[in-house]
Amino acid sequence: MNITELARRLRVTPDELRDKLPVLGFDIGRKAIKVDDRLSDRIVRKWQEAAWRDKQVAEERVKMERKRQVQLGEVTPDRIVALPGSLTVRDFAAKLKLPATNVIRELMKGGILASLNERIDFDTAAVVSEDLGFKAIKESAEQAEVKVSGALETLKETVLNESEANLKPRAPVVVVMGHVDHGKTTVLDAIRKTTIAAKESGGITQHIGAYQTEKHGRAITFIDTPGHEAFTLMRSRGARVADIAVLVVAADDGVQPQTIEVIKIIEAAKLPFVVAINKIDKPAADPDRVKRQLADHNILAEEWGGKAVMVPISAKTGQGLDALLDTILLVADMEKDKIRANPDRLAMGTVIESRIDKGAGPVATVLIQSGTLKSGDYLAIGGSLYGRVRAMKNFLGKLVTVAPPGMPVRILGFKVAPSVGDVLEVPANVKELEVHKVIKRGLGQDAPSKSAPASEESTADKAIVNIVIRADVLGSLEAIQGMLERMVHPKVGVRIVAKGLGNISDADVLNAEANHAVVMGFHVQPTPAAASLSKDKNVDVRVYKVIYDLTDDVKEEMKKLLKPEIIVTELGKLEVRGVFRVGRDFQIIGGVVIDGQVKKGEHARVTRLGENVCDGKIAELQSQKSPVATAYVGQECGIKFEGKPFIQLGDTLEVYHEDKKEVALNF
Ligand code: GDP
Repeated sequence: MNITELARRLRVTPDELRDKLPVLGFDIGRKAIKVDDRLSDRIVRKWQEAAWRDKQVAEERVKMERKRQVQLGEVTPDRIVALPGSLTVRDFAAKLKLPATNVIRELMKGGILASLNERIDFDTAAVVSEDLGFKAIKESAEQAEVKVSGALETLKETVLNESEANLKPRAPVVVVMGHVDHGKTTVLDAIRKTTIAAKESGGITQHIGAYQTEKHGRAITFIDTPGHEAFTLMRSRGARVADIAVLVVAADDGVQPQTIEVIKIIEAAKLPFVVAINKIDKPAADPDRVKRQLADHNILAEEWGGKAVMVPISAKTGQGLDALLDTILLVADMEKDKIRANPDRLAMGTVIESRIDKGAGPVATVLIQSGTLKSGDYLAIGGSLYGRVRAMKNFLGKLVTVAPPGMPVRILGFKVAPSVGDVLEVPANVKELEVHKVIKRGLGQDAPSKSAPASEESTADKAIVNIVIRADVLGSLEAIQGMLERMVHPKVGVRIVAKGLGNISDADVLNAEANHAVVMGFHVQPTPAAASLSKDKNVDVRVYKVIYDLTDDVKEEMKKLLKPEIIVTELGKLEVRGVFRVGRDFQIIGGVVIDGQVKKGEHARVTRLGENVCDGKIAELQSQKSPVATAYVGQECGIKFEGKPFIQLGDTLEVYHEDKKEVALNF
């Protein structure tokens, strides 16, 4: 894969990617243009893992912030609301314990027309919360865990409440977790390679976020995302995605912080697990030390009288992998009552991978957990229609028409990209579904969409403010766009040259340069490359935290383009009687006021035989050798005229006052 393509997938610039790779432990060299697919998969995973850790830190910060604010007395605990990434107006009002009409009214003040069932994103909700006297903080994964959403509840219930007679065994789903660098990816790759089907198909498997392998004729599904997504799937979901965890611990490195974290997650989820003591091929490997360390965390090996099964393996040499698979099947047998599903109902499953493909649009991998998904089935998430199955592929890239429980499939046909962890269901009645007005991430996140005038009317002979907009979420982007669309004026307009989600990239800067546009970011930052490029190219990049600041700024820019209305008041006339000095851009002249008055600091038009000669200013005015502010009819005076030195004896100076009237923008 090309570095640029990889960077695009990770939503960074190639330079940023090159900068970050050494930090993540990859040495591809600064000049590399391509990386092979396995390496790129590995990079993607490491990248996601790092992002996951960043997210943990961010969540921790939210908690601290909440504490701090309460301690400082800035807000009382009951005025803090934790909100998810997006929610319906109805849910939002419920969280604030306010009548929905209040919330709708407040939204309208912000230019957002939303009905009860429409979704607004966190940022919008946060701004409105503030206006209503609340402090919104983003719901962390843990908080989300407590409040299982409706759809999750139904999935859980569906899985749990299925009548005995309908339940059939399904493939167990395994998730591989452990400390960074302990070998999760290598273990997953090694097992994938042993797949019979993979061997049959020439070893070609596709990375779809999960794969299946076979042992003793039984299928095992592995979630192939050892990074943060696996954790997310483990932590934040109501219906369990995985049935069994494999905790990978490197025999030469022992128990590390993330190992402990995983232990906690496994325990909290009451998830059966197998410990894989990896890298036993290494001279420094010390499996017993790992067992001792695990015992300190209450995980006691079977051979030491405990319950935990520990399998020594080497993902590198393949040693112990068979035993690991056997152990997984053994655990699956012990759990066999739980590893069942009803294949004969409308399908339900969890999204384990989602992205927007340049050509194909939104593509997502879903792990089917109940029922059987069929080609042509409608796809719904949280009561909204998301699309219809156009085609399904398994991890070997083979087209399939049905996907039974336990099977991961990549689905084509989403109109809207779902999020990892979303619970998908095939609706019984498609007509009852609400159609998302806010199309979640429907926009290509990487490619800003094409230029379009913000308002519908023609922009032909108007002064135009060009802007490139970047926002963090589609909701904000749409809100901004909506507000800009309302900025309609006969003489000046605003044109969105490009818009997109995510940080401001160097492409945005170049785009802005080419279109004489200002780059405006909402809750996003320029990437380092974009920041330095904007300096080089002298492109104006501005970032905002409040929507109104952004729109006010656009308004200011529009005002700048509007030529102010100029109101001219004629003051008087002077006849030139003498020219005493001629400078490069001034003249000292003398004359007599023949009409009205002449004032210091005012404008003067020089006329000769009725023709305008030049324009200038009365810089200084003297009468009887002393400075004055005004000279009246009949008075003789000396003048320093600033302007082109074209005045001749006998010319007339028409003195006038200019008032600039700023044009008001009434929106
Ligand atoms: P992850 O971060 O847990 O996914 O770890 P990786 O699978 O990326 O492995 C980290 C490093 O350890 C890589 O350089 C692997 O080649 C190496 N590694 C993984 N498993 C083994 C093993 O069994 N033996 C040896 N010697 N090296 C291993």
